[in-house]
Amino acid sequence: MRTYIADIVKKEGESINLSGWVSVRRDHGKLIFIDLRDMTGSVQVIFTPKSEKAHEIANTVRSEWVVSVVGEIKKRPDNMANKDSETGKFEILASEITVLNEAVTPPINILDDGYNIGEESRMKYRYIDLRRERLQKNLRMRFRVLKEIRDFLFKQKFTEIETPILSKSTPEGARDYLVPSRLYKGKFYALPQAPQQYKQLLMTSGFEKYFQIARCFRDEDTRGDRQPEFTQMDLEMSFVDREDVMALNEAMLIHIISTLYPEKEIQEVPFPVTTYKEAMEKYKSDKPDLRRDKNNPNLLAFVWVVDFPFFEKNDKGGWTFTHNPFSAAKREFTKDLQEKQNIANILTTQYDIALNGFEIGGGSIRNHDPKLLKSVLEIIGTSSESQERDFAHMFKALGSGTPPHGGIAWGFDRLMMILQNEPNIREVTAFPKTGDGRDLLMESPANVDIEQLTDLGLKLSKEE
Ligand code: ASP
Repeated sequence: MRTYIADIVKKEGESINLSGWVSVRRDHGKLIFIDLRDMTGSVQVIFTPKSEKAHEIANTVRSEWVVSVVGEIKKRPDNMANKDSETGKFEILASEITVLNEAVTPPINILDDGYNIGEESRMKYRYIDLRRERLQKNLRMRFRVLKEIRDFLFKQKFTEIETPILSKSTPEGARDYLVPSRLYKGKFYALPQAPQQYKQLLMTSGFEKYFQIARCFRDEDTRGDRQPEFTQMDLEMSFVDREDVMALNEAMLIHIISTLYPEKEIQEVPFPVTTYKEAMEKYKSDKPDLRRDKNNPNLLAFVWVVDFPFFEKNDKGGWTFTHNPFSAAKREFTKDLQEKQNIANILTTQYDIALNGFEIGGGSIRNHDPKLLKSVLEIIGTSSESQERDFAHMFKALGSGTPPHGGIAWGFDRLMMILQNEPNIREVTAFPKTGDGRDLLMESPANVDIEQLTDLGLKLSKEE
């Protein structure tokens, strides 16, 4: 039976079987050393000419070959021990080795942090790049944070519910990714920019507390902290005020950090709250970086930003929403919204949360009164035809016993980027796209067969 490398510390003197990857092989003539690595750790394995066959095979193995070793666990003399890790105090005296798979010479070095390697090579050979200790840690921590979120929300009586990926294009801000329908030629699904409407509909359905670790898609130009597809921690709650949603999220963030990142210091608890106006006047940013010491990698400065204007002028001179068309106005502006007056001054119930200068989440209390949603759509100039086509289901649902509700979504990749002290979200994503939206490993986007297009009733225009 196989033993994980991390477990050798409990088995001194035993003969065990280890499996993993050869990080390095050092040949000292009679003695051959292999640093063997599995998902739990790394240990030095020694081959002596006494085990002739094993010694012979060990002589042939190279970096990144996959091997299985039988050997005895020995404590290293104190002056030889590698004090950096528990397993470094031990070594394995090998009696057998089996090569399970050979490896071509690794196209990229994985034994350092990899920051100096060109991104093109790292993405092309991502399956090798991910063997790097730093990325292994990032993805394992990402999972632990997700698990902590799920456990926390489960205890708070939330239900995790999956919503469709094949959805409908709605004018919510960004450009949609479209998926042509084969059965209904000329019609399209859209990939969700966020599960916004579905989660509100789940409030109509009486779930009261919904969440989802949701994949979202926005066809925008990518940036360091953006990707065409990204992950949100998305939640919605019924019968709540803005302060209820903020308090729950604050408690969850504090819980995650104190449980999984005890080395980090949250600068201020409760998190400070600033209005948009104050933030812009004082910091010239609606996601201010409030850290007292920006050189300290373990300092986390959260800040809530509230009281955003609901509407702003678009470049055609009309009104558009600043955040989310489904938001409610602050109570004192409900009348203005209803009467569609005093538009520039209407404040929304939107709350954003920033961390160290990055926006990591945002949400709002919603209009659960269909008349008010209609006012928003009218203010932003949505034609009655488009209201009917895109929002009829929302009007009907809101008129079918929908409780007051509100929610939030966290940019989960961004949060992980900051917690792991990484410079961009690609470092905390298993298979990210490049800065310009390409998957260099799978080589997408890619051409498709003409038959596939014909099936979908599509034809490319000449230039393509
Ligand atoms: N759906 C919104 C977004 O993705 C967040 C929210 O209001 O819950 O930006």
